[in-house]
Amino acid sequence: MIEFKNVSKSYVKGKKAVDSMNLTIDKGEFVCFIGTSGSGKTTSMRMINRMESPSEGQILINDVDINEIDAVQLRRKIGYVIQQIGLMPHMTIYENIVMVPKLLKWPEEKMRETAKDLMKRINLSEDYLDAYPDELSGGMQQRVGVIRALAADQEIVLMDEPFGALDPITRESLQHLIKRLQKEMNKTIVFVTHDMDEALTLADKIVVMSEGKVIQEGTPKDILTNAANEFVEELIGEDRLSQAGFEFETVEKIMLKNPIKINENEPITNLAKLMRETKVDDILVVDDENNLKGRVDLYTLSVNRGKYQYVHEIMKKVTYVVNTTSIRDGIYYIHDLGYRNLTVVDDDGKLKGMVTRGSIVSEVYDVFWKEYEPQEEFDASFETDEIVQAASDVVQNGDSKEQA
Ligand code: ADP
Ligand code: MG
Repeated sequence: MIEFKNVSKSYVKGKKAVDSMNLTIDKGEFVCFIGTSGSGKTTSMRMINRMESPSEGQILINDVDINEIDAVQLRRKIGYVIQQIGLMPHMTIYENIVMVPKLLKWPEEKMRETAKDLMKRINLSEDYLDAYPDELSGGMQQRVGVIRALAADQEIVLMDEPFGALDPITRESLQHLIKRLQKEMNKTIVFVTHDMDEALTLADKIVVMSEGKVIQEGTPKDILTNAANEFVEELIGEDRLSQAGFEFETVEKIMLKNPIKINENEPITNLAKLMRETKVDDILVVDDENNLKGRVDLYTLSVNRGKYQYVHEIMKKVTYVVNTTSIRDGIYYIHDLGYRNLTVVDDDGKLKGMVTRGSIVSEVYDVFWKEYEPQEEFDASFETDEIVQAASDVVQNGDSKEQA
């Protein structure tokens, strides 16, 4: 665990590069520092391994003040990667991977084992260990670059815009790789970026910085759905903000909570009555415990009239989604896959509600067009006058047309 306690850093007197930073980073967490250039991200990160020292405050690692740890020792325990430096061309893949372990004087056998294990994790044959970088494709080299950062098996790895200089496709694939390895190997990673997509993809926790201050910290969901202020909103961008609701809100928010339903043991005659009363021609079937069992529609009812007695005898299968399904996926099922509506159940299979095409439409409307709705109430008298005027226009024009 890494803790920043009221940490400030001034390079120049009177100007704080980092200003009263308080932050806790848990073991195994992927934390992204994000902010505009000069906001103090790199400085904050470099204080963790004492490449910079705080002017005020304290940093603790596993409850020990890092000032009490020898700086060289500390740096050995913390990996540090700056902008993707390529592999050394005159060294084999193996020598490249174990560069840091070698400095740490690991025994040869342990280095071999580690290198093999890491190659396996990126699906590269260990035969490549003795090859030189130019014998590998560009993509392979990039992946080796990523595992090299994890080779010394340090619990904490600091990464300062490591993918900053790469093209978007390579970048995205390496993001997924580092995220997977971080989870598999349970690393604590502090990762600096100025790219919100990158932060959203990677982070368990995003720390938004501006002018040396932490403006907001939270999960990607927190940041997207509860941006602390305009600065954060701007960093997120309008598109991501408007989509966030779809991504993180579930179908529960938009479903009808009381869809028309009938018990499976009711006689078919009651089903017919229910359809007539409610004017709903497609009704869900549940058991005594409200477990979803199926559905019946008017057509099935009509063709089976007289042949069967109870609802459960004529019900059909029903497709459903669980209540944790995102609105985005709900939209996909209805819009792209053509479902008329979605029945929603909880984990235990109990009926919770139904999402109709109508509820999807209004949700999409709210997200994209709500802000264009009139903000102020119309002046009632003005409105009435307008309507009266418009009405009389219609009447008069209508009359004159008829006369013509
Ligand atoms: P970021 O990584 O977010 O771009 P930095 O931590 O590099 O921000 O910089 C924060 C502030 O500290 C900036 O105003 C920068 O100019 C200043 N700064 C960074 N490093 C030094 C340094 N070695 N000497 C003087 N000022 C520095
Ligand atoms: Mg920086």
